[in-house]
Amino acid sequence: SRVRQAVILAAGMGSRLRDVASHTPKGFLRLGIKSIIEESIAKLVWSGIDEIIIVTGFRNEHYEKLSKQMPFLKTVNNDMYETTGSMRSLSKAQDFLKGDFLLLESDLVYEFDALQVVQNTAHKNCVLLSGKTLSGDEVYADVRKETILKLSKKKAEIHHWGGELVGISRISHDLYEEMIAWEARKSKKYDYENCLSDLANIERINFEFVEDLAWCEVDDSRHLERAMNVVYPRVCERDAKISMYRRTDREVLLNPGPATTTDSVKYAMITEDICPREAEFGEMVEGIRRDLVRVVHGEGQYETVLFASSGTGAVEACLSSVIPPAKSVLIINNGAYGKRMEQICDAFGVLHIDYDIEWGQPINLAFLQSLLNDLSGQISHVALVHHETTVGILNPLRSIVEMANKANIQVIVDAMSSLGGIPIDLRTCKAHYLISSANKCLQGMPGVSFVVCERESLMETKEFAKRSFYFNLYDNFQFFQVQHQMQFTPPVHILYALRQAINEYFLEGETQRYQRYSESYECLIEGLEQLGLRLYVDKRHHSRLLTSVVEPDDKKYEFADMHQYLKKRGFTVYPGKSANKRMFRIANIGEITKRDVGAFLETLSGYLRARQINVGFGNRHYQTTIVGGKNETAHVS
Ligand code: PLP
Ligand code: MG
Ligand code: MG
Repeated sequence: SRVRQAVILAAGMGSRLRDVASHTPKGFLRLGIKSIIEESIAKLVWSGIDEIIIVTGFRNEHYEKLSKQMPFLKTVNNDMYETTGSMRSLSKAQDFLKGDFLLLESDLVYEFDALQVVQNTAHKNCVLLSGKTLSGDEVYADVRKETILKLSKKKAEIHHWGGELVGISRISHDLYEEMIAWEARKSKKYDYENCLSDLANIERINFEFVEDLAWCEVDDSRHLERAMNVVYPRVCERDAKISMYRRTDREVLLNPGPATTTDSVKYAMITEDICPREAEFGEMVEGIRRDLVRVVHGEGQYETVLFASSGTGAVEACLSSVIPPAKSVLIINNGAYGKRMEQICDAFGVLHIDYDIEWGQPINLAFLQSLLNDLSGQISHVALVHHETTVGILNPLRSIVEMANKANIQVIVDAMSSLGGIPIDLRTCKAHYLISSANKCLQGMPGVSFVVCERESLMETKEFAKRSFYFNLYDNFQFFQVQHQMQFTPPVHILYALRQAINEYFLEGETQRYQRYSESYECLIEGLEQLGLRLYVDKRHHSRLLTSVVEPDDKKYEFADMHQYLKKRGFTVYPGKSANKRMFRIANIGEITKRDVGAFLETLSGYLRARQINVGFGNRHYQTTIVGGKNETAHVS
C-alpha cells in the first residue's frame, strides 16, 4: 500500500559546493522558480506523502523556517553532522517514523515518476536504480535477480551491474530498525547506502530499475551545471507529460463549490481498506482538526469539530447548540445563507431577531451598532455570513466582530465560501465560531463540514439542553477530546481527500492562494466588462471569489441554453439565486487559474456572438492572447 511518510536527509555541508552555496544548505539552490528542496517537497505531497521529516544539520535554520509554513514538515537536527555520516542522521528521525517510509536526499532533482515507481512497487524494501548517468559520483548496485547484493562506488566490486543508486528508496519499518541497530555498533561516518549494502545479505532489499530516469544529485559545480542545462529541463518536460496522461477529466467548475480539485486530491481517496476506529486513522483526523485551526490562526484557543455532512449541517450544529435557551441570536441576512440561518433557528425553536437587508446590499454598520445597543441583554450572539455566496458580496467581518466583542456578544460566522480563500486571522479578528466545509476554497471533496470553536465559549455550552442528538456541538467535541475520533462513522475517503487538500493549501500558501483567486477575479471582471455585461453587486463589496452577472435583456438569451453551450465546452456556470433579479453567477474558487478564466471568457464571447445576443450596451468581442507566462491579459477586438 501507499507510503505516507518520507525522510529527507539534509544535514550535509555541501562542502564541494562552497563557492555557490556557502550560506544556505544545497537543497536551497534553485533551478526553477522554487528551490530544489521545495520542488521535492511538492512532489512528495502530490504523491500522497502526509508527513515529511527533514533531518537537518548545516544551516538548519533555513529548513526550520520552511517547516513553520507547512505543518506536514517536521525537522530534526543532527548536531554532529560534521563528524557523522548520513546513517546517524537517519537514526535521528526514529521518533517520528511509525511505518514504512520513503528515503530521499536533499540535493536530488528528479522527475515525478520516480516517486510513483517506489510508491507503487510490490517490494517492501526497494531502492530505485537508473541507467548510466556518468555523473562522476555514482553508487553502483550489484544485483542478483530482483535483489540487491551490494552498493558501492567502486566499479571493481560490482559483478552483476544492476544500475545506479538514485537516492530514492522505500524502507520498511523492520529494515529501519535493523539499520539503526547496525548503526549503533559503527563508529563515525557511516552512510546509509553502506548500511543498506551491509544489510543486503541479511534483509531482503529489492530494487526497481528505470533505464531512462530524469534525475541527478547536486554535489559539486559540475553536477550543478549538468542539472541546469540537461536534467532540469528534461524533468520539467517529463512532468508536464505525466500530469497530462494521468489526468482525470477536468471540468472548470465556475459554480461556488464543490470546486475543481487537483488530481492528487482525487487520488487521495483511493486508499487501502481501513477501519476508521484504528488509532492511525484517528491520528490523521486529529491532524486535520489541528491544521484547520491553523488555517485561521487560532492555535491554542480554538478547537475544530468535524461533521459528516454538507456545510449546512455544521451551520445547523452551531446554531442549535450554542445559543442559551433564554437568549436570542441576532441574524444578519443579506442573502440566501443568512435567510437559511433564520430557517434553521425556526426549526429548532432557537430565538432569533432578524436584521433583513435586501440581497446584494451591504450591511449598514451604524444601524447594526444601534441594534446591538438596543438589544443588549436580550441577545447572546450575532450570526452573519462572511462571503454571501448568493450574490458574491463580502460582509465586513472584522468590523462586526469588533463591534460585537465590545458589546460582549459572541460571533457566529458562516465562512463556508471564504475560509481558505480569503485570509482570516482569529488572533486579530476574534470570532467565536467559524463554520465551513471541505469542498470550497479548501479544495477538498464534499461531505465534511466543520466548526472552528473558541474553546472557552464552547465549554460554556456543556450544560445547555440539547436540541439535537447527532449534531450537538459540545458532545461531538467531547468525543474528540476523549476518544480522538469522530463520534459517528466518519466519511473515510472524504477525510483522506481533505488531508491531502490541506497539505496542498499550506504548500501553496495563504497569501498565494488568495492571490491566485484574485488574479482570476480580475481577469474575469475585465473580460465581463469588455463584453458589455453588467455586474450585480457594487464592486466595492465584491468578494473576489464569486461574481453575479446581470442577464442580458434580450429574448434570444436563455440561461439553460448558455449553460449547455458552455458545459459542452468544459465550463460549468451557475444560475442566480434571487427571486426577483435575473442574474447568473461565476465563481473563481478551486484549482483554476486566470488562464481558465480567460478561456471561459472567450467561450462566453463565442456564445453571445453565435446567438447574436444584444447585451444592451453595444456588443463587443472578447479575445485572449494566452501565450503562457505573464502575457495573459485580455484585449478588446
Ligand atoms: N453557507 C454559504 C455561505 C454557502 O455558500 C453555502 C453553499 O454554497 C452554504 C452555507 C450551504 O452549504 P451546503 O450546500 O454544503 O450545505
Ligand atoms: Mg553523491
Ligand atoms: Mg549528494
